[in-house]
Amino acid sequence: MERRVDTDGVKTEPCPSCGKPMERGFLVAESLIGGAKWVEKKTRLAIRGSPVASADRWGNVYLSGFRCPDCHRLLLAY
Ligand SMILES: [Zn+2]
Repeated sequence: MERRVDTDGVKTEPCPSCGKPMERGFLVAESLIGGAKWVEKKTRLAIRGSPVASADRWGNVYLSGFRCPDCHRLLLAY
């Protein structure tokens, strides 16, 4: 059961901080086991949390979204 939302069809989003158009792309993380998870606070082993994206067979997790290089903000979809 893979639930996936991406930014296909969305040209850009204004930065929530400065309002300039953001760059489209992906945040990539490496995770062979749990995929990417959202947690409300850090724990030593990063256990629990809600899964937001699973890893592909090479252990990479891709989250599509936008970034503002000026404000260093990311806006991600999952
Ligand atoms: Zn900005």
